[in-house]
This record gives sequence, C-alpha cells and structure tokens, in this order.
Amino acid sequence: MLDIKENEPLAKHSTFGVGGNALFGIAAHTVAELQEAITFADEKKLPWRVLGGGSNLLVSDVGFPGVIIWYQNRDLLIEGNAVIAGAGAITAAVAGASVRAGLTGFEWGAGVPGTIGGAVHGNAGATGGEMKDSVVSVSVLENGEVKKYSAAECKFGYRDSVFKNLPHAIILSATLQLAHAADAAGPVAKMREVLEYRIKTQPKGVPSSGCTFKNVEIEERAVPQLRAFGVPENFLAAHRVPAGWLIEKANLKGAVQGGAKISEVHGNFMVTAPGATAADIAALIDLAKEKVAAQFGVQLHEEITRLNI
Ligand SMILES: Cc1cc2nc3c(=O)[nH]c(=O)nc-3n(C[C@H](O)[C@H](O)[C@H](O)COP(=O)(O)OP(=O)(O)OC[C@H]3O[C@@H](n4cnc5c(N)ncnc54)[C@H](O)[C@@H]3O)c2cc1C
Repeated sequence: MLDIKENEPLAKHSTFGVGGNALFGIAAHTVAELQEAITFADEKKLPWRVLGGGSNLLVSDVGFPGVIIWYQNRDLLIEGNAVIAGAGAITAAVAGASVRAGLTGFEWGAGVPGTIGGAVHGNAGATGGEMKDSVVSVSVLENGEVKKYSAAECKFGYRDSVFKNLPHAIILSATLQLAHAADAAGPVAKMREVLEYRIKTQPKGVPSSGCTFKNVEIEERAVPQLRAFGVPENFLAAHRVPAGWLIEKANLKGAVQGGAKISEVHGNFMVTAPGATAADIAALIDLAKEKVAAQFGVQLHEEITRLNI
C-alpha cells in the first residue's frame, strides 16, 4: 500500500528549511511504487516531481500544487571497483563505503549532502572531482520503462546533465567505476582532507543549500575587462571566476533580506534563520545577480534548483 501524505510540508524536505506544502507527498521504495505514485498523480491530473535530499532546492512559499515523490532506494553494492548505488543512497555514505572498500576516486563525495539521484541530476562535484568522472551508467524510469543511460548519454556538463531537461525521467541508480587504491590509507587521508577543507571554508550549523550560483565561466574576450576590474590572474587563466568571490567583491557578504542572509563565511552561500521565506532568498539572489552584473558585467547563473518559484 502506497504511503501517501496529504499537504506534506516541503520545508522539512529542503535544507534551506523554507517553502510551502505539496498537495501530496509520496515516499516510494520500489519501481512498482514509483509507477503507482505516477498513476496516482495522473489520475488526479496533478503535476509530479521527484526530489532527493532537498539540498539543492528552493521551494516556493506556496509549495507545489501536485505530487512530490521521493525515491528512497538506498541499496549499495560494491563489486570489485564498481559501486552501484540506489538513487536514494546518501552521497556521503556512498563515498564513505567506497573509501572503506579501498577504492579511490569518490572521496570528494563525502562532503556533498543529498542523494546519488540529486548528485547525478546536477553532476555534483567538489574539490576537483565530479560525478562525470566516475559514472559509467545510470538506470532511469522514463515513460513507464526502465532504461540505461551510458555516461555519454547523460551529457554531463558543469553542474549539468541531460536529466535537467527531462523532468519526468526518474533516476533509479548509478554505477560508478572507481580505482583500487595502492594503499588503503590514501583514500582515508584524502577524504579527511576534503572534509577538513569544507569545515574551514563553509558556514557551519546554519541551514543553506550550498552554493547558490555556478562559478562564472568566462570567454577569452572578457578577460581584459575582468582584469581591469581586479579579477585575479589565476581565475582568468582558468577562465572561471568563483561566484563567491564576485559576490564578496560586490560587498554583499552579510546582506540580509528578512530571515535570509548572504553568508559572511562564503559569499556563494545563502543561509536562513527561522522565519525566512523563499521570497527572502529569491530577493537576495536577484540582488546578487544585479550587483555583480553592474560591477563586473557578468551574469550569475543559479546552481540551485527552483520548485514552483
Ligand atoms: C552545505 C551544503 C554543501 C553543498 N556542497 C556541494 C558541493 O560541494 N558540490 C555540489 O555539487 N553540490 C553541493 N551542494 C548542493 C547539493 O548537495 C547537491 O547538488 C546534491 O547533489 C543535491 O542532491 P539532493 O538529493 O539533495 O537533490 P535535491 O535537492 O532533492 O534535488 C535536486 C534536483 O535533482 C532532481 N532529483 C533528485 N533526485 C532525483 C531522482 N532520483 N531522479 C530524478 N531527478 C532527481 C530534483 O528533481 C531536483 O531538480 C551542497 C549543499 C549544501 C546544503
């Protein structure tokens, strides 16, 4: 029997802790339950969306006028250097298990909140690694059928994948190919390093959704102008300027709107206090876009996913 919740508060399913209710919320554990959930939405003529851990998500204050489905398959199988993880598996737990199995290549995942489904969807990445580096295939439920997408078919890009344009493709599982570490202590040390770096550079103990914007990729022709604006040479050489740096230089660290704030610790993080609304966060997003465009002539693009806002 499908577990259907009416008027499910989405704030508790989003790490920002804001947003209204979904008309219905369904936690599905099997493909059959996913199909039942979709049939439920179709019969009621309601839109539906699948979410993971809600750690990259801005939910509208009015919520979602339809059915939100969570696919909670957390299966994890490690065979040789292959890691097969259910879409509901916690990314950090998959990273930890791969390290314990003596595998290297996914240590960076230890610091990324959310699920494997969300990580595949957005080609999550950190400290030099990204899903694209390890995913060999992704199993997906699409139009009632289970299909396998090869890594090439996933069309991974910078915080991007084909799934961003396929809102009704449900990621079921991902197969990652890692490497056996020459020395088992290596991955453990690397994972520790990843976690320590995050502790040093990110706000602690406050709700957020990680980085709000993608770092800005710049074309060669924009380099002279950005150099004149004081953008450091290492960013220009990489043709990528951290959004947090641009926001900091636009003097926006600490900017407050209602219960939301641009973190003083990391300019690309927005953090919330009790009482914050999605509208507060959206206003800060607009402010950052406006000020950065005015000061540097570049456009910030959102990394976070919006739901009904
Ligand atoms: C403190 C903090 C630090 C962070 N650091 C990083 C970082 O270093 N690097 C990074 O890349 N991200 C980072 N993030 C953002 C976030 O953790 C990642 O984007 C994460 O992979 C999102 O996974 P999720 O399960 O929470 O997805 P959700 O937020 O639930 O969903 C994101 C998108 O994925 C889709 N989706 C989720 N599951 C499925 C599925 N099974 N099938 C189809 N679509 C699905 C949703 O529809 C939505 O569009 C951080 C977030 C926080 C709060």
